[in-house]
Amino acid sequence: MSSAALSLQFPRSDVAQIVFNDPRRGANVLSQGVLDQLEQILDQLADRQGLRGLVITSGKPGIFIAGADLREFAAAESPDPQWVQQMCRRGQELFARLSKTPFVTVAAIAGVCVGGGAELVCWCDRRVMADGPKTQIGFPEVKLGLFPGWGGTARLPRMIGLSNAVEMICGGDSISAQEAYKMGLAQDLVPPDRLLEAALSLIDAEAEHQFYLQDRQKWQRPLDITETELAFLAATGNAYIQQQTKGHYPAPVAALETMIEAASLDVEQACRLEAERFSKLFGTPINRALINVFFLSDRNKKDPGVDDPQIKPRTIGSLGIFGAGIMGSGIAAAAIKRGVPVVITDTQEEALRQGVRKALEEASYDRQLRGPSTQRLLELAPQLQATQLNQEVAGCDLVLEAVVEDPEVKAKLLAQVEELTGPDTFLATNTSTIPINRLAQALKSPERFCGIHFFNPVRRMPLVEVIRGDRTSDETVATAVAFAKRLGKSPIVLRDGPGFLVNRVLFPYMNEALQLLQQGVSIQEIEKAATGFGMPMGPIALYDMVGIDTAFYAGSVMQNAFGDRYESSPILVDLFKRKWFGQKSGRGFFRYDNPKGKPEPDPEIEQLLQRHVTQKAELSREQITHRLFLPMLLEATRILEDELVRDPRDVDLGVIYGIGFPPFRGGLLFWADTEGPQRIMSYLEPLVDLGPRFQITPVLERWAKSGQRFYNILD
Ligand code: NAD
Repeated sequence: MSSAALSLQFPRSDVAQIVFNDPRRGANVLSQGVLDQLEQILDQLADRQGLRGLVITSGKPGIFIAGADLREFAAAESPDPQWVQQMCRRGQELFARLSKTPFVTVAAIAGVCVGGGAELVCWCDRRVMADGPKTQIGFPEVKLGLFPGWGGTARLPRMIGLSNAVEMICGGDSISAQEAYKMGLAQDLVPPDRLLEAALSLIDAEAEHQFYLQDRQKWQRPLDITETELAFLAATGNAYIQQQTKGHYPAPVAALETMIEAASLDVEQACRLEAERFSKLFGTPINRALINVFFLSDRNKKDPGVDDPQIKPRTIGSLGIFGAGIMGSGIAAAAIKRGVPVVITDTQEEALRQGVRKALEEASYDRQLRGPSTQRLLELAPQLQATQLNQEVAGCDLVLEAVVEDPEVKAKLLAQVEELTGPDTFLATNTSTIPINRLAQALKSPERFCGIHFFNPVRRMPLVEVIRGDRTSDETVATAVAFAKRLGKSPIVLRDGPGFLVNRVLFPYMNEALQLLQQGVSIQEIEKAATGFGMPMGPIALYDMVGIDTAFYAGSVMQNAFGDRYESSPILVDLFKRKWFGQKSGRGFFRYDNPKGKPEPDPEIEQLLQRHVTQKAELSREQITHRLFLPMLLEATRILEDELVRDPRDVDLGVIYGIGFPPFRGGLLFWADTEGPQRIMSYLEPLVDLGPRFQITPVLERWAKSGQRFYNILD
């Protein structure tokens, strides 16, 4: 049984212990095979005499059970709801056996315990948890477009109260062992090395006073809650979920409704209801899209950024930064927060002072205090050294420039820095628009140089584009990727090209918004179409956030590169000339001069836009949506054609993490795959006359003809 994920041991003759430790995997997951093994062990224990208790533990450090096997979920395309309900019922019935044994059942939890794992422990009589940052428990199913289906929605409210259960299940966030203890989900909290001992003591105590038998009775019954309380919880829960999800994610509402309805049922009926409702979510496009995002992110975590497994990244022990502006200070904060010491400089003394202050405040930000924690600030301060000597910055393992976006300034600086660095130093640029190959020309060792493009604001944006020039070495790329991951980011590796990935797909979308304005479509209609599709904000508000000046300069780069299909809109030029730069100047497409700096419609903008309307078009919401997102898709297929990404999945991860493309659509290419070639081609057909930007690309044509997806979730 060496490949068994579960083993049965006896720490005492009267106590059985099931240890989850799947030798074939890094984490314990509840596949159908593992459930089979659990069933066999429970059968074995049912026949055994003289048992006082059962303890369930994990043999994997840092992980108790990571949940159901999502590969099995992803493999079930267009599943039959009947089959899904059976899958739920099987798990529920199996786990429920833990609450019906002739002995006490205790889960001894150390490490992450989520999803199906959290459900399993909820069916035990008692839980003890290892105290420490690694132990967490939670129900993240809603993040995958589902809710717990193995009895979680039935059992949890009975144990910790409906309101707590709603918060955990509908919110999807894990809680610490401390919080679980306070909530009554765990009955004991002990140091990790005393976990088993504590579980055994609990078994002895329960076997003595038998309180667990009373709880078994109680947790079978409907909840003790009034109609008024239920109605209040339903209304407040619903309002909160709507505000958070904007109606795009059905799972939290479905979970709430299921739990409210099941409150008046016994646990068995509640489980049946759960299975039935779960089957309505399982396999839906949103569920599949969110599972895809899970796999995109999982793949990214494991991707070293280069194809040759022999290439190993170098460890970056220190980071040097030129330029202490918005980006330099943000990157410095991210680095010191993750334990990478930083040396930073700026030609402007005041900018350096401000940058250091900002970086330290950001790195020591404490959510509870809503400001910097003094203790953390004192800890981190020695990690950030400000200097006016270039050679001190150049002495770091990796030197990144984040100075003004001027190719001459950057090339000159990089060449100077290279003279000061040792042979093992890596050089990088944070440029958004300048070709890496162009900057590499200034260097004697271009193989040690690449782009590491962070996004603004660094603390919030998970994506990093690692751009390899023609002569960048694999070691440099692997090192940049490992470094970005150390900072908690998700790096994707690209070949050099105008706009890299994110700006290149974003530009056609932003540009199309202006084209729509020129056709007399209102700002509100455009914004509604974009947010209705699921974007966090509309393209017009985004212009104001990015800055009209920045958009103008970036637009000219794109126009130079792809002038055959894009030209700068006169609207942008007009705003630029008036210096209506957006949020930073108090007005752009919207006005921001109210005390809260909130966007407000600007009547003058309406007049300005009227002057640019060339032809009036009446477009439906759907037509506007297609106008915005199809140019993005077409550009993505050109990126595939140019082989700028190593894998089409990097496009989808890039748009989700880099521009907030709605995760519930699974990514840009995944969205196209979900719509299917027939519909996408029919959306494009009436638009082709608008010009080369809507020309069907060879990649899209091949995709449509082949009937193959851009990629499969499980590739
Ligand atoms: P910024 O204007 O806020 O900061 C640039 C800093 O560089 C200034 O403080 C300036 O004094 C300093 N500087 C100029 N020349 C220098 C030199 N020779 N040596 C040392 N310091 C010098 O600019 P930013 O927004 O932080 O942008 C920096 C880089 O990051 C640019 O290449 C930009 O394209 C890129 N970028 C910006 C964003 C963004 O949204 N702001 C996003 C991604 C990438």
